[in-house]
Amino acid sequence: MNPLLLKIGFFVIVVGTGIIRYPHEKRNKANQVTTDKKKGLEQLLLFFVFLGMMILPMLYIFTNWLSFADYQLPVLWQVLGLVLIVPGLWLFYRSHYDLGRNWSVSLEIREGHNIVNSGVYKLIRHPMYLAIFLLVIAQALLLNNYVAGPAGLLFFGLLYLLRVGREEKMMIQQFGEEYVAYMKSTKRIIPYLL
Ligand code: SAH
Repeated sequence: MNPLLLKIGFFVIVVGTGIIRYPHEKRNKANQVTTDKKKGLEQLLLFFVFLGMMILPMLYIFTNWLSFADYQLPVLWQVLGLVLIVPGLWLFYRSHYDLGRNWSVSLEIREGHNIVNSGVYKLIRHPMYLAIFLLVIAQALLLNNYVAGPAGLLFFGLLYLLRVGREEKMMIQQFGEEYVAYMKSTKRIIPYLL
């Protein structure tokens, strides 16, 4: 497939996630944080995610520094990359909408924080992370470069593995039985399965 089309697909992800997130970022700034787990590790992981999902892709798109690592995926995989953008962005939007004032980039408890267990939070506890997984898989299929393609999946996967357990522990600390009960009625990230 025309590489330009694939790069445009990736831009749709960058612009789309930015537009979806912006109003929540703006509104939640005013919503005071009462418990902040933004420690050194969390900051470092967020930086690597930014590197993998933004800096390396931009270098690939706008310079030829990474051209030594180019490859070509079969068209069918590239098409799948384009297709994945749709559920990825939809779920990204829905999870921000459902989480509302409780959302933050890092692990934080906000003033008036309450457990969300409806909407896309009814079946799984981490729909926003699932959305980002769909989008970084799309990135790997769209940017056919060994450095820029899988970097998002690699670094977000690392953030997820090192964060999800701590996030659930934080929620149990804060909400106790209520979150434990919510855990029993949901799966972590794949509906009905995982
Ligand atoms: N892991 C969730 C949310 C990511 S945003 C997802 O993937 O959809 C991270 C913040 O969301 C954390 O600081 C935590 O306080 C909050 N959070 C996570 N699950 C929540 C829930 N079910 N209800 C309310 N807040 C939640």
